[in-house]
Amino acid sequence: MRASPGRPGKADAGAPLAYRIRPVDPAAHLFEVTLDVERPDPQGQRFALPAWIPGSYLVRDFARHVVSIEARSGARRVALEKTDKHTWRAAPVRGSLRLAWRVYAWDLSVRGAHLDTTHGFFNGTSVFLRVIGRDDAPCAVRIEPPEGDEYRDWRVATSLPRAGAREWGFGEYRASSYDELIDHPVEMGRFDVCSFDAEGSAHHVVLTGRHDCDRERLARDLAAVCSAQIRLFEPSVRRAPFERYLFLTMAVGDGYGGLEHRASTALLCARKDLPHRGMRGVPDGYRGFLGLASHEYFHSWHVKRIKPQAFAPYDLERENYTRLLWIFEGFTSYYDDLMLLRAGAIGTADYFKSLATTIGNVLRNPGRLAQSVAESSFDAWTKYYRQDENSPNAIVSYYTKGALVALCLDLTIRARTGGRRSLDDVMRLMWRRFGRDFERDGRGLDEGGFPALVEDATGVGLREEIARWTSLPGELPLAELLKGAGVRLDLRTSDDGAPWLGLRTATRGGELTITTVLAGGPAQRAGASAGDVIVCADRLRVDEKSLKALIARRRVGEIVGLHVFRRDELLEFDVRLAAAPATEPSLALDARAGANARRLRAGWLGRRNASESGKQG
Ligand code: ZN
Repeated sequence: MRASPGRPGKADAGAPLAYRIRPVDPAAHLFEVTLDVERPDPQGQRFALPAWIPGSYLVRDFARHVVSIEARSGARRVALEKTDKHTWRAAPVRGSLRLAWRVYAWDLSVRGAHLDTTHGFFNGTSVFLRVIGRDDAPCAVRIEPPEGDEYRDWRVATSLPRAGAREWGFGEYRASSYDELIDHPVEMGRFDVCSFDAEGSAHHVVLTGRHDCDRERLARDLAAVCSAQIRLFEPSVRRAPFERYLFLTMAVGDGYGGLEHRASTALLCARKDLPHRGMRGVPDGYRGFLGLASHEYFHSWHVKRIKPQAFAPYDLERENYTRLLWIFEGFTSYYDDLMLLRAGAIGTADYFKSLATTIGNVLRNPGRLAQSVAESSFDAWTKYYRQDENSPNAIVSYYTKGALVALCLDLTIRARTGGRRSLDDVMRLMWRRFGRDFERDGRGLDEGGFPALVEDATGVGLREEIARWTSLPGELPLAELLKGAGVRLDLRTSDDGAPWLGLRTATRGGELTITTVLAGGPAQRAGASAGDVIVCADRLRVDEKSLKALIARRRVGEIVGLHVFRRDELLEFDVRLAAAPATEPSLALDARAGANARRLRAGWLGRRNASESGKQG
């Protein structure tokens, strides 16, 4: 990748920048990093930490975790001035410059850095200062263990290319640029590894944390999923865009998250969601874990190499705006579960369960009628990533609705070409145009380029549909398109047809608290607000369960009196119960589907998965 725009002093990309990182005090969660710059900017070298990490669209200001920093030239101390929240400038020097700093690492997430006496994990964005003007310079990276006998059996897992270190060893690694340096997270400690081959590339699952994972089962399932994805993008040469791929997996009691990188992913999961020996079928938790791994792996092509032009290159100092996250996150969310089905890791019933969850997540929130997925993408930084009590009313997820847009596109293309073309052809053309040669030409998908790409890939013009589905809020024609592909979509109300208050609650500190009042619903009309604590319904004390039971015995149109505390004031509202909206979907193969629909269904789900007599589960 080339240098970021608008930065002065792009000179001398040849001299390597030498980084060294070690856990200097694991108990205090401190990494120490040093950086040697041979020929610093004669005007005074500037250094900065990124404001955000690619893949997670929120300004996080990683520099706030730098606890100390100093600069030297030889033995001489060099003045260092902080010029903004994440930038330092060293006084001009004649010779080389050495920077040393310490980073506090106590964020157990896939986006940050975490260090204690049991393991260390970091993303380069949290620990490695960027040498401004030298984005293209190669980097040498020395990763060292903490001092002390108790750390003697620690190993290193990273997809950073090795430059002398043994496999899984501490020592020398390298990166061809800053962009690459921060795209290979590093795990260190005592971890388990299970390995498999997929279409000629080595894959390793690195398991940190206490677990009882059935590693053979996990390797078998993931191998099939990875192969299916490689074959989707490169059906003839069948090659992944990397030699070696790592799933860096942290198992905890409760947690969920993943972040994509060019040759690895960092995953956080609940240990109960990993497969165990003797496990039958695919429990929901394991289906969720496989979906997460599949999602991040799909990103190796789609967003790590095929990128929106707005990310080529990333500007790490501020928000990067694109209206296309519904393509990059939404399509990835569509394919993550579909790939499990195509790989045979799950059956049709499981796939339909996942798809129904996605549909329900969109339908349950009135925000789908207020925001388009293009707007949701653009405002990811301030809305999707900063949700509050009103988010269900105000925003739509570019993940879930984006996945449903992908489904609508896929089914429409299949219907209009008699099953000869599909969204797969669009993905392959995107890969050929923008992904395969990205590292050489750095070209991304421009903001308005998608409709023409669809037409080029499939011969089907969908400009109007794409504009309606993505630039406007509103419903998607899911039932109709699914019917055309031999699948029935049924929508029911939740709670077996009980009337509806139009609010969501949670029990907080033993108090029944309103978390969201849904736009246009009965509770909002009556005056209830998020944050109100419900004490009585019809003058009876209620908790979550008894309120639900009380409402279930009433009819639409009746009034329920709610007593709530707003701050310390008691208020009373008369809520007129309404009919609940039908937001609970279920999907099934349509036994009455005609020949055309059956053909499309077999193309979409795979012949084996699309047959009613076939094994499902
Ligand atoms: Zn994603």
